[in-house]
Amino acid sequence: MGITLGYVGLGHMGGALARRLLGHGPLYVHDLNREAVQRLVDAGATAPQSLAELGAQCDIVLLCLPASPQVRDVLFGTGGLVHHLRRGSMVVEQSTGDPNATREMAAQLRERGIDLVDAPVSGGPRGADAGNIAIMVGASDAQLARVEPVLKLISPKIFHAGALGSGQVIKLANNLMHHAQRLLTLEAVSLAVRNGVSAAKAVEIMLASSGRNYYMEQNMYSRVLAGQLVTGFTLDLVLKDVGLATQLGQESGVPLSIGNLVREYYETCRAEMGGKAEVNAVACRFDRLAGTAMVPLQP
Ligand code: NAD
Repeated sequence: MGITLGYVGLGHMGGALARRLLGHGPLYVHDLNREAVQRLVDAGATAPQSLAELGAQCDIVLLCLPASPQVRDVLFGTGGLVHHLRRGSMVVEQSTGDPNATREMAAQLRERGIDLVDAPVSGGPRGADAGNIAIMVGASDAQLARVEPVLKLISPKIFHAGALGSGQVIKLANNLMHHAQRLLTLEAVSLAVRNGVSAAKAVEIMLASSGRNYYMEQNMYSRVLAGQLVTGFTLDLVLKDVGLATQLGQESGVPLSIGNLVREYYETCRAEMGGKAEVNAVACRFDRLAGTAMVPLQP
């Protein structure tokens, strides 16, 4: 491509996104976790000695970190990228973060002649591996034109959400809806089961009716009804998404009556089960309350 890329944050999501960039010119990678770095190096990436070296080498650096505080640390902390990136370089923030924090960081970088755009993703590591993950970009037209060829290596499903921060705004709105769908789906199916419809039949009928949704399609048969609850997605991660969405509602003066109810529900689940509990384990709570067995009882 004639440009040098960097990727920082090589966890479940970032590792899968970074792998899509291999084979198109130099790719420098960095993570606090050495094993995560080694996996990318084994696949053909280069691990510099430090974040400073990565910053000095790269034209565009993509980030996929847990949340905005870690992004701030990588950019502005000791040895952070801001001290080493060249004027005219670009940072692409792919984490699910706080759009207002992202706008503040972009303003600080702009003073040094460095661009920042947000480009979070939806579709999980499987979507990244398959090359069809949705990428939602917050950027000017000119910035989008510059970053699009890089993002196209990850997936053709690129959406220009609007100006800086808009990618993270729509990502939070989307995730709020997804996490709400989980609760209402489980509640509605438990209602049907308690009143005499089998769980499998309830899901079959709803999938052909107006209540069908993505959560139901992806999780009810293959996970909840099969008793295979583990996806690696924890209550802590759900509450990060939902908490950022309701915080955005508060900051922008938008009442989120249902969103806040959803957040409170997951807070209750976390108080009972702990933050590391698998999110689909909330199905067991619905079973307990309704006296049903959507999740097959263990022998
Ligand atoms: P993860 O915990 O698997 O990976 C995060 C990585 O960041 C880890 O490897 C960690 O070592 C590294 N890291 C943390 N602080 C660092 C620092 N200061 N410097 C360098 N590396 C650092 O998390 P993930 O699942 O990959 O999620 C990353 C982001 O992507 C999150 O914002 C998440 O909400 C978002 N996301 C995840 C998914 C998913 O299905 N996993 C889907 C869409 C979006």
